[in-house]
Amino acid sequence: MSARASIIPVFVQHLGCPHACVFCNQRRISGQERPASAETVREAVRAAESLPRDQKRELAFYGGSFTAIPAERQTELLAAAKEALDAGQIDTVRLSTRPDAIDEQVLARLRRYGVETVELGAQSMDDEVLRRSGRGHTAADVIRASAQVKAAGFRLILQMMTGLPGDSPGRCVESARRIIKCRPDGVRIYPTVIVKDTELYEMWRRGEYREHTVEDAVNICARIVPLFERAGIPVIRLGLNPTEELSGGAAVAGAYHPALGELVRSRILYHEAARLLKGVRPGSRVILEVHPSQVSQMTGQHRENLLALREAFALREIRVKPGACALGEIRILASDADVK
Ligand code: SF4
Repeated sequence: MSARASIIPVFVQHLGCPHACVFCNQRRISGQERPASAETVREAVRAAESLPRDQKRELAFYGGSFTAIPAERQTELLAAAKEALDAGQIDTVRLSTRPDAIDEQVLARLRRYGVETVELGAQSMDDEVLRRSGRGHTAADVIRASAQVKAAGFRLILQMMTGLPGDSPGRCVESARRIIKCRPDGVRIYPTVIVKDTELYEMWRRGEYREHTVEDAVNICARIVPLFERAGIPVIRLGLNPTEELSGGAAVAGAYHPALGELVRSRILYHEAARLLKGVRPGSRVILEVHPSQVSQMTGQHRENLLALREAFALREIRVKPGACALGEIRILASDADVK
């Protein structure tokens, strides 16, 4: 079985969510309107029957506040998932929820029904940012819930957002550092998107919130992704999954880009190349060697990385070629690059 998982998504909407996070319109983000039930779970499992069997099948309850919905509804959904687990139709179950909707009793229920992974929406580790974003929990809740989830033996994934109201690059970096201290098994990073019919949209229209642009998001993510990866924490998602509704106009502004992850990887490689080129004499010809899958990321959209590097270091020529490099590694082939 390959290490990658086929995801069987079930969207559990706002149901029971007592909060009003300024950026959230769950219906629009999930692109679906019907509330989830046991039948929704069974339908999703049936629809996934044709998926190749060489990958782990992961049933994922999306929606952000699973353990805050009424206990009977949780049990209904979890029991349907357990049925599928026991029948061998799926291999694993994960869900996402809020840090303040975690306690021992909740975790015991998830354990009973075979949930393996718990994702917590931390979003920020700055209480001022959390308050201005209407999250209704604090950074201390994230620390406590993360410890409980890990102690109970679940796989822990933390979600973080960049560019929320009151946020800044410095606060984002600090949030990333505090998230690393929670020792999650992975993180998802969602730069803020302004979605229609949300409080954030109104704040933006009233001039009370400055848009977090794609460029802002790329800049900050190119700083925090390496922090996570150096700490051995994989970044398993960067940016909202594109949906027809978001692409069709619901995402009115902010860091919505279908290839955001690619842009960030490309920027990280740019920074790394710039660091390596510091000792190269102006007028040199340089060849950068990278992992074969990263040639286009190193080159950048419309060759922007190469053009910027050539200009910044006054190079005569710069090219990229695939080589026997690890992912993220860059080698400078001497060519006639004189090192000072
Ligand atoms: S807690 Fe989750 S579902 Fe509820 S408003 Fe906030 S983001 Fe939306």
